[in-house]
Amino acid sequence: MNFFSKTMTLNNFDSVPYLTYNSLSEIDFINHAFSTRLGGVSTGEFSTMNLALNRGDNPDSVIENYKRLCKSAGFSFESLVASAQDHNTFIRNVTAENKGVGIYRPRDIESVDALITNTRGVTLVTYYADCTPLFFVDTKNKAIGLAHAGWKGTVGRIGQKVVEKMTAVYGSDPANIKAAIGPAISVCCYEVDNACADNFLKMTDLKPENFVFPKADGKYMIDLPECNRRQLVCAGVPEENITVSDLCTNCNSELLWSHRATRGKRGTMCAMMCIR
Ligand SMILES: [Zn+2]
Repeated sequence: MNFFSKTMTLNNFDSVPYLTYNSLSEIDFINHAFSTRLGGVSTGEFSTMNLALNRGDNPDSVIENYKRLCKSAGFSFESLVASAQDHNTFIRNVTAENKGVGIYRPRDIESVDALITNTRGVTLVTYYADCTPLFFVDTKNKAIGLAHAGWKGTVGRIGQKVVEKMTAVYGSDPANIKAAIGPAISVCCYEVDNACADNFLKMTDLKPENFVFPKADGKYMIDLPECNRRQLVCAGVPEENITVSDLCTNCNSELLWSHRATRGKRGTMCAMMCIR
């Protein structure tokens, strides 16, 4: 397997691999990671690092996968709090009371596609297999956020909403927010039909000619990371504070879970982030 990225580092490849953003690793008060499909104990179509408890995998294997990933990437298993993603744009402010929810304690809420916190020692966990992960760090007020932006969440402007929510709840100034986008299915591989593309073409304030590309056969290629990047800029995050991953999930399907590459027979990756 060839790995090359200018934006991300592949850590612990020989044991339990995980990716980190070079730009976020510079921030000393957080820990962050993005899992791969390698280094777990799941079998069959979930081989081997699957973090989804809701896709039919053996729950004991999934919990073991969490423990392995936590150990490898330096997180406490007890500190994890999961989202409950359904392609909407609800954002949950989590605290120490929510530790374990969706992982070793039952879900207590439906429809949460983004998590934010300013509590130390609480690890946010969100899920991906082509959809776009969004990482947010307010470097001044010490608050963080993770969001899941598939095409619906992107059209719903979930990234913009997270910036607004961090401003409202933590007093964050968007100028102090550092963000990272991806790894996701990228413009090389993300083809959609006319009905889906229409939603993106309507986002005229973001100049859709930069992320919607018509093809000769009537279909469209969509650049989800670029559409999300433009939303963050629109919300006031400085361009130089935003890193877009150069890894496409579909192009790197030996390392990363891709819904398209596996035709849906797959495990799920997660993003993790906490304030130390
Ligand atoms: Zn690709």
